[in-house]
Amino acid sequence: MAEPTTVLVVDDEKVIRDGCTLLLQPEGYVVATAADGREALDLMRIQPVDVVLCDLKMPRMGALEVLEEAGRLHPDVPIIIITGHGTVADAVECMKKGAYDFVTKPFRADHLTLCVKRALEKQQLERETRRLQEEQARNLYTLAMEQSRMHTIVNCMADGVMVTNRNLEIVLWNPTFLRLMGLAPSVPPPGPLAVYLDDKPFLEALKSLTEEAEKEPARCLSQEICRGRAHLRAMTAPFFGPDMKMLGTVTIFHDVTAFKELDAMKNDFVHMVSHELRSPMTAIKLQHEVILQGLAGEVTDKQRELLSRAQVKIQGLIELINESLDIAKIEAGYRQLELLPLQIGEVLQEVVDLLHARAEDQKVTLKLSSSPDLPLVLADRRSMEEVFTNLVTNAINYSPDGGEVTISTVDHGGYVEVRVSDRGIGIEPEEIPKIFDKFYRVKHPRARQIIGTGLGLALVKGIVDAHRGSVEVESRLGEGSTFRVLLPR
Ligand code: ADP
Repeated sequence: MAEPTTVLVVDDEKVIRDGCTLLLQPEGYVVATAADGREALDLMRIQPVDVVLCDLKMPRMGALEVLEEAGRLHPDVPIIIITGHGTVADAVECMKKGAYDFVTKPFRADHLTLCVKRALEKQQLERETRRLQEEQARNLYTLAMEQSRMHTIVNCMADGVMVTNRNLEIVLWNPTFLRLMGLAPSVPPPGPLAVYLDDKPFLEALKSLTEEAEKEPARCLSQEICRGRAHLRAMTAPFFGPDMKMLGTVTIFHDVTAFKELDAMKNDFVHMVSHELRSPMTAIKLQHEVILQGLAGEVTDKQRELLSRAQVKIQGLIELINESLDIAKIEAGYRQLELLPLQIGEVLQEVVDLLHARAEDQKVTLKLSSSPDLPLVLADRRSMEEVFTNLVTNAINYSPDGGEVTISTVDHGGYVEVRVSDRGIGIEPEEIPKIFDKFYRVKHPRARQIIGTGLGLALVKGIVDAHRGSVEVESRLGEGSTFRVLLPR
């Protein structure tokens, strides 16, 4: 409920005080009275007052002194002077000293109430203006603080930060960006991105992201850039105004040179160890087969059982070695890709035929829907078989009994998309960026029972990247996953 409005009537004549009270109370005002200026100021100290009607001349303290003191202590309370005809000049003097208005005695009821109403309106307006000014000052302060905080964070970041506008001009950067790009600390003011960065694929990707951002606001880029010996991972996302108009992009450059060097060392190591292991493993497997076939003498049931179990383990190890070698070869660029025009639908049919029995074993239905009119892609057949065998095997493995795996294709003009969807256990959002890493396996209670190396998706990504394609995943925990492979025509 709104607070009642209090009018303080200050006059040494009781008849005026009573008269004003009689006029103002029916209008809904609370009326307080004082017989002189001193009494009025004492009252204002203990009781909130919204407007003062004050006689010009009073024995103890007149309106001029009230104006002075009240103006200091209660600047937002408007004071209306009550004056006789002969003292209008004095009343005007009071207005110069800050009085809001004056009424001359004898006054009319409607004139008095109108005057009080207008004074209150003015006071409301002044209060609102002050509130808005204070709010604006607070907002400006918060904004300045926010800007200063952002500035400090961006400038202290160990990663490079670069912001571009809609015209692909750099409008903001931090010192790490300048260092990573080998630019002088006092670089010239903002300008076209191409002047500072000559990486063509990156520039083209950023251009396409900028052009398509309003249609695909969630799209981000993750790319690798080489600057001499340095390897940088660039993550780019568009940013938007309140009306969802794209304003520009933000890119974070992370220096991954040390990881790359380590990775190269690890690849050499894996390559060497795998080679040294694969031949003896294959030999052991063959010798076991000879024994199991009874060619080295009779085999008891128990021996057969133990040898068969050993065979499964050896086969797992050989697969691990083969996948490690494949990845090492792809990463080192040794693997020869025989890029030929390929009907991807045929490859998918072969993969489905190959994995049909496995899917049946796990009570999973495999569905393939691919148009025979799909354009040809330029790809290496064996590599494509490997990619889709891995994706479909995963989809089967991570599906529940009775699950369904759908493989479908979409023609996007310049690209053909293959989707492998399941309604299996799904992947948590924070795991998604990691599953393409080598040896990474999600620690999901249901995934633990599934035998795997954590190399399948790394191999998929390596092969697809080598084809200048891309692989993405959309997944919801408990609902399923869709892996989308884009291959150039
Ligand atoms: P793995 O041999 O463990 O399957 P991958 O590299 O193929 O190795 O996959 C890495 C991890 O990604 C898996 O351990 C699994 O947790 C997760 N993953 C891959 N495909 C799926 C899928 N279709 N559904 C749920 N999780 C998946």
